[in-house]
Amino acid sequence: MRLNAYEQILHEFKDWIIKHSSKIIITPKQHITNIDLRAINQIWQINYIKTASSQLRGISCKGISHNTLTLYGAIDDIERTHLWLQKWLKQRAKEILIPWLQQLSVQHNLPFNKVSIRGQQTLWGSCSPEHDISLNYKLLFLSNEKVTHILLHELCHTKHLNHSQRFWALLSKLDPNCKINDNAIRKADKLIDIF
Ligand SMILES: [Zn+2]
Repeated sequence: MRLNAYEQILHEFKDWIIKHSSKIIITPKQHITNIDLRAINQIWQINYIKTASSQLRGISCKGISHNTLTLYGAIDDIERTHLWLQKWLKQRAKEILIPWLQQLSVQHNLPFNKVSIRGQQTLWGSCSPEHDISLNYKLLFLSNEKVTHILLHELCHTKHLNHSQRFWALLSKLDPNCKINDNAIRKADKLIDIF
């Protein structure tokens, strides 16, 4: 297929754009005041207190029904507070998603090699031929059932590295609501833009 000059340039940079697009951050115009971690039924209220410090520091307070995270310091820089929260979310994802994946892996006898947490723009997760699994920290924003479905999806790729009938047969065995969950994820959840 022949490309015009503009398409040619886009084509040449395609790999670069895909590689780096996960690093493009949409800057919010105002402070984020609520984070709903649906995966674990936890809502966090985010407070901001300006101090003379040029740094940012966060103190979290977990309650029975109410959790607060207070950011202190140079809070006027909204992009910086956003990046701080992104890091905080990645850390939560490590604590929550990794043991979750390990538990499902043992339960269903689907061993994997390594797991990493990322912030992809277009993928909830992936599994490499070496059985390294990567998970998107934004999974925390999905319901518990959908997260389980996606984790099982990646684990099934350790047996079938494709979306063949055998892959879907295995996933359906582990997740009886496989079809419903898969459709719901495709339809509803374009990755949450703000993070
Ligand atoms: Zn897949």
